[in-house]
Amino acid sequence: MSEEKKSLNFIEQIIEDDLNNGMPKENLRFRFPPEPNGYLHIGHAASICLNFGLGLKYNAPVNLRFDDTNPAKEEQEYVDAIKKDIEWLGFEWDKELYSSDYFQQLYDWALDMIKAGKAYVDEQNSSDIAEQKGTPTTVGKNSPYRDRPIEENLALFEKMKSGELEEGSCVLRAKIDMSATNMYMRDPVMYRILNKSHHRTGNTWHIYPMYDWAHGESDYVEQISHSLCTLEFKHHRELYDWFLDQIYQPQLVRPKQREFARRNLSYTVMSKRKLLELVEEKFVAGWDDPRMPTISGLRRRGYTPSSIRKFSETAGISKRDNVTDIALLEFHIKNELNKSAPRVMAVLDPVKVIITNYPEGKEELLKAENNPEDDQAGYREVPFSREIYIEREDFREQANKKFFRLKLDKEVRLKNAYIIKANSVVKNEEGHITEIHCTYDEDSLSGSGTEASKRKVKGTIHWVASSHAVPAEVRLYDRLFLDEAPDSHKGKDFKEFINPNSLHINTKALVEPSLKTAEIGDRFQFQRLGYFNVDNDSTQNHLIFNKTVGLRDSWAKQEHKK
Ligand code: ATP
Ligand code: MG
Repeated sequence: MSEEKKSLNFIEQIIEDDLNNGMPKENLRFRFPPEPNGYLHIGHAASICLNFGLGLKYNAPVNLRFDDTNPAKEEQEYVDAIKKDIEWLGFEWDKELYSSDYFQQLYDWALDMIKAGKAYVDEQNSSDIAEQKGTPTTVGKNSPYRDRPIEENLALFEKMKSGELEEGSCVLRAKIDMSATNMYMRDPVMYRILNKSHHRTGNTWHIYPMYDWAHGESDYVEQISHSLCTLEFKHHRELYDWFLDQIYQPQLVRPKQREFARRNLSYTVMSKRKLLELVEEKFVAGWDDPRMPTISGLRRRGYTPSSIRKFSETAGISKRDNVTDIALLEFHIKNELNKSAPRVMAVLDPVKVIITNYPEGKEELLKAENNPEDDQAGYREVPFSREIYIEREDFREQANKKFFRLKLDKEVRLKNAYIIKANSVVKNEEGHITEIHCTYDEDSLSGSGTEASKRKVKGTIHWVASSHAVPAEVRLYDRLFLDEAPDSHKGKDFKEFINPNSLHINTKALVEPSLKTAEIGDRFQFQRLGYFNVDNDSTQNHLIFNKTVGLRDSWAKQEHKK
C-alpha cells in the first residue's frame, strides 16, 4: 500500500484536524517517555513507532524523555538499554531529556501554587488519605489540613524538600475538589518524600513529583504538541489539563494528551514489573532472553528492526483494548527472512547414511543455491562424501504412501545432490538405527542436466557430509506461557502459566561447514527446519544458534480461512 492511500489512524486524524484549524506545522513536536525501570518490550515498540513515525511523517522533532521521577526503581542500566533499543529499531530522537531536568522548575511551580492557595501539605498517612477519597459514587472528605495557612504550607514544604521529614509523614496535594466526579480530581498528590538517591540528581532532592504532576508540565517545558499515552490515562486527562491551566501562557504551545490502546500480545505478559519478576526469579536468563517479549530478547532471537516496525504498522493504533495475535509478529519476520536469509543445511537429530556404491575417500564440492528468492545471493559449495548425516525423522524402515522421505527400497533426493535409495539398516543392541545403507544414482546430480538429474522423486531431504560436519548447539524455543493471556486470571499468578518446556537445548546438531565463519547475529534458513541466527554467546569453537521462527506460516493460513 502506498503512503498516500493508507487511511489515517485516529491520532493522525487529530493532528490533521489541528493543522486544519490553524496550528502551525512547525509547532508539531512529539516525545517518547519511557520510565527507566526496565527494558523496552514489543508494546513500547508500538508507542515508539507511533511517535517517531509521526515525527517522520510531519518532519517534526521527537524527544526521548526519560520519565525518571521514582528513584526507588530506576537505574542507568535501563537508560542505556532503552537508548540502544530505540536506535536499533532505526529511530533518531531530537533531544535526550529527563523529567529530573525539570525538578527545579516543577518545584518552583509548586511553590507558586501553594502561594496561590492551590496546593497544601497534608500530614495524614496514605491510608487516611485514601479513605477520605470517597468512591466513584460517594463524595470525598476534605483533609483537616486542607485550609492551613499558606505560610505554614510553605514552611512544611521546605522541610519536606530539605530532608528533615520522614518518608510518608506528609505529601503535597493540589487543592481541587473532593467531590469531583473524576476521582483523579479529588486533591491529587503532587509530591511525596523519598529519601533515596536518584540516578541523576543524587541526594539533591528529598521530594519527588508524582506522574500526573510531572508529565504534563514536562510536556509543556518541552513544548510537546501531542502527548500520546495509553488508555489507562484517559481519566487522568482532566487533571493533566488542570495542571496545565495553572502554568499555561497563551503565546506558547499547549500540549494535548491523547490516548490509544496498549499493544497486548497473546501468550505473553507485557508489564515491566512482571518481566522483571521473570528475570529476578530466573525463569529466564535475562532481559534479553530470546523468549522474552522485550526488544532485546527479540533482537537476540533473530528478529530484525524492520520486521518489528512492519508488525507495529500492520497491527495499527487502536482506540480500544485488544490482543494482537503473536502469529502476526511471526508472519513479518518469516516474510522478511524468506527474502533475505541464506539457505544452509543443518541436521538437528543426525543419523548416519553410508552410500555404499560411492567410492571411499572420494569427495566432491557441490554447487548450492544460497537463496532462490534473491537472485543476487549466488551459490556456495557444499562437500559431499560417502558418509553423510540426515535427520533421523526423515527415515523410516516402513511407512505409508504419504511419507515422502526416505524409506527402505525407495528413493529420495538429497538437496543440491543425488538421488539415493535405502537398502538396509544397522541397529545397535537396543534396536536403535545407527546406520542406513544406501546406494546413489551417479547420474542424478541436481543441476547437472542429465536425464537422471531431472528424474522426479517424491521427496527431497537435507543432509550434511560427515567429514566436514560442524557440531553446533541449537536452542529451540517454545512459547514462554501456555496460556493465551497469562495475566488475565483472577486469583492466579501469571507465573503459574509458564511453559516448563519453553527452551530445548540441542547439543548434537551438525551444520554444513560454510557456517564455521558465521558471525554473531547472522541469520539463516536451515532448510526444511526454520530460521535461525547466531547467538551472542557463540564462538568459532562452539557455535550456538537460536531458532527464530519456523517455516510454516500460520498467520497467512488463518487469514485465508476467514
Ligand atoms: P509497563 O506497564 O510495561 O511497565 P509503562 O507504561 O509503565 O509500561 P513506560 O516506560 O511508562 O511503561 O512507557 C513509555 C511509553 O510507552 C508510554 O507512553 C506508554 O504509554 C507506552 N507503552 C507502554 N506499554 C505499552 C504498550 N503495551 N502498548 C503501547 N504503548 C505502551
Ligand atoms: Mg509508566
